[in-house]
Amino acid sequence: MNQSATPPEEKKTDNSPPVKTVNWQDFRDHIATADQSGGRKWMYPRKVSGRFVRWRTWFSWLLLFIMFAGPFVTIHGNPLLLLNLVERKFVVLGQIFWPQDMIIFAIALLVCAVSIVVFTTAFGRLWCGWACPQTVMMEMVFRKIEYAIEGDAPRQRELNRAPWSSEKIFKKALKHALFFALSFIVGNILLSYIIGWRELWQIITAPPARHFVGLGFMTGFSLLFYGIFARFREQACTFICPYGRLQSLLVDENTILVAYDHKRGEKRGPLRRAQKFGERRYAGFGDCVACNQCVTVCPTGIDIRNGVQMECVQCTACIDACDAVMDKVGSPRGLIRYASLNGIERHEPLRFTPRMAGYTVVLAGLAAALALMLFLRSDVEATVLRAPGSLFQQMPDGRFSNLYTVRLVNKTSREMPVELRLESPAGSLQVMGAGNLVLPSQKASQSSVLIELDASAMKSGTTPLVIDVYSNGKKLDTLKTAFIGPRN
Ligand code: SF4
Ligand code: SF4
Repeated sequence: MNQSATPPEEKKTDNSPPVKTVNWQDFRDHIATADQSGGRKWMYPRKVSGRFVRWRTWFSWLLLFIMFAGPFVTIHGNPLLLLNLVERKFVVLGQIFWPQDMIIFAIALLVCAVSIVVFTTAFGRLWCGWACPQTVMMEMVFRKIEYAIEGDAPRQRELNRAPWSSEKIFKKALKHALFFALSFIVGNILLSYIIGWRELWQIITAPPARHFVGLGFMTGFSLLFYGIFARFREQACTFICPYGRLQSLLVDENTILVAYDHKRGEKRGPLRRAQKFGERRYAGFGDCVACNQCVTVCPTGIDIRNGVQMECVQCTACIDACDAVMDKVGSPRGLIRYASLNGIERHEPLRFTPRMAGYTVVLAGLAAALALMLFLRSDVEATVLRAPGSLFQQMPDGRFSNLYTVRLVNKTSREMPVELRLESPAGSLQVMGAGNLVLPSQKASQSSVLIELDASAMKSGTTPLVIDVYSNGKKLDTLKTAFIGPRN
C-alpha cells in the first residue's frame, strides 16, 4: 500500500530531538536504521503516552505473566508447553506428543501457518505490535528500564555523546547489569520450555561438571538475549524475522494496518501561530502539521506518512503521538489510525474478500483434520514386527509358532496395564517373560511375543494376523501382521 503525498515541509518543534529531513522518496533507497554507507544508525525513540500504549502495556503484562508462569503450570502432571527437541518429546496443553505423532504436529504447524496468513491478510502485523515476544520484551521491559535509568530520547542521546564520567559509568553499568540479569532470566525461561523447569533446576543446583551442556545452553541463551535487547533491537524485526518480509505478499488494499490518512493530512505544513484549521484548509493545507512527532517515537525510525513499509511493526506509538498533536491543535484524532487503504481512500469498512475466504476454507479443512486426528489419537501407540532372524517353528503337537517383537508407547502420564489378544485367526498369544504387561507412564517398552496357530487355521505361506491391544477392558489399538508358515 503506497500513498501519494506531497513533498513535506518539515519543521523542528522546540522540544523534539533533531530529526534530519530526508529527501522525498529517499526512504525507498535505504532502511531507516542504516545511513547512506550502510552503517548502523542508533534509534532513540521518544517516550510516548496515550491510549494505545496504555492498552498495550496492560496486554503485555498479561502476556509476560503467561510467558513466565508457563513452565510452572501443569495439567495432569504434565507441563503446559514443552518442546524437547533433544529427546523428541513434546507437550502441548498437557498432552504428550511422541515422534509417532509427527503427522499431527505437521498438521498443527500447517494450521498455524495458514492462520498467520489469514490473520495477516485481514489485520496486517497486529501480532508484531501487540503479542510478539521480541516487541513485548523490547518495548515494555528493556526500553522502559532504559528510560528509567537514562531518561527520554534526548537525554539518552546526550549521555551517549558525553565523555565518560562517574555518572555515565554508573548509568551504563546499571543498565547493562539489569539487561544481562533479565536476559539470563528470559534465557532460563526459554530453556525450561525445552527441558522442563525441574531439569533446569537440577542444572542450576548440581555441580557444573555434571551438566556441562545444559550450562552451555544457559550461557548461550543469556548472551543471545542480551545481544538482541541491548544491541540488535529493531534489527531483529527488519533483518532477521521473515514475517515482516512476508507482509508484502499478504497485505492488500483491504488489510487493516497502522496507516496515515494522507487524504486528510496532505498537504502537510507547519501550523502558524493563531492560524485556524479552516484557514489552513483554505490555504490548501491538510491536518498534518509536519511536527515529526510520529517519526520521533517510532522504534524502527520510519516515517509512517510514506505509506506502509516493511520495517513497521505496527506498534501504534505513532498513533498516540499524532493523537496528542491533534488534541493540541484542536483537530480530531485519528490522522494516523488503524485503517485499510480502501478505508482511507473510499471510506470502505473491512471486507471479507475472496482471498480471505479462500484462505479460511483451507484453514477450516486443516483444522477439521487436526481435530479428527486428535480425537482418534490413541493413548498407546503399538507396533508389531516379526523378530529379526527368526523362522517359524513346528511344535511337537503339530502347531506352528512365530516370534514377534511388540513395541508399545504409553503416551499418558499414568501407568497402564496392557493386554494383547489374538483376534484372528484362532490361536494363542503369549508375552514372553511377563505375566502382565504394565507400561510405565510416558515410556516406551518392547516385548517378545510368541504366537501359535493350528495348521488348520493357517493358509499356505502367509496368514494375516490381527492383534488387539486392550487396557482395563478397553480396546486401544489394532495391529496387523503376517504369520509365516510352510507352503502347501
Ligand atoms: S504526528 Fe501527526 S501531525 Fe505530526 S507529523 Fe506526524 S502525522 Fe503529521
Ligand atoms: S510507523 Fe508507527 S506503528 Fe509502525 S513501527 Fe513506527 S511507530 Fe510503530
